Amino acid sequence: MEKIKPEDYSAIVIFTGAGMSAESGIPTYRGKGGIWQEYDWQQYACQLAFDLDPKKVLAFHELRRKSVLDCQPHAGHEFISSLERSHAQVTIVTQNIDGMHQRAGSHNVIELHGSLWRLRCPSHGKREDIGGTFESYRCEYCQAWLRPDITWFEDPIDQEVFFQAEQAIGQAELFVSIGTSGNVWPAAGLAELAGQSGCFCVEVNPELSGMSGLYDQVFQEPASKLSELFI
Ligand SMILES: [Zn+2]
Repeated sequence: MEKIKPEDYSAIVIFTGAGMSAESGIPTYRGKGGIWQEYDWQQYACQLAFDLDPKKVLAFHELRRKSVLDCQPHAGHEFISSLERSHAQVTIVTQNIDGMHQRAGSHNVIELHGSLWRLRCPSHGKREDIGGTFESYRCEYCQAWLRPDITWFEDPIDQEVFFQAEQAIGQAELFVSIGTSGNVWPAAGLAELAGQSGCFCVEVNPELSGMSGLYDQVFQEPASKLSELFI
């Protein structure tokens, strides 16, 4: 199988999904053994639950943050970060909310579903804390409860963030999808967009996603083996 030469492409989009984080030991949300089998999202991951009992919802997210801090970025995260340093234009588009790319040293990260490391006030915007526990869950200006800045069930998508992702894909010549189940939105849509805008499209996933027809090249490999697929 021919390896990928990053310098053949002026701009690169790396698109990551749950499989990327799972290899670091971070529990996945959907699917078998996922968090939503153990917890009812209607009690922990929607605006209505937050409005009814913000403390309970925030405590649940604090648990998620702690379980992420117990895990470390793997060789795949490190490789993407090194690619960003050695290549002029690399954009990471991720469906993950755990901030693992940033912990591995990546900077240009578009988080489609937000981040566990941000909270937001409905009136006064977002605040970030990559370190650990938040000092306060109340907005310092209006005392409102701050909610996690992630896309919950029944939340609308963040149009601005999706627009940024679409722009990056529109300008890219290489699109590498890693650890996404592929056939669920938005993964399928973004891969399709990449194909339409002329990207060379590569899939890296241990299992065939069922969307492999969208890709020019498929590596049935885990994300941690990423560096072996590039020259
Ligand atoms: Zn406020």
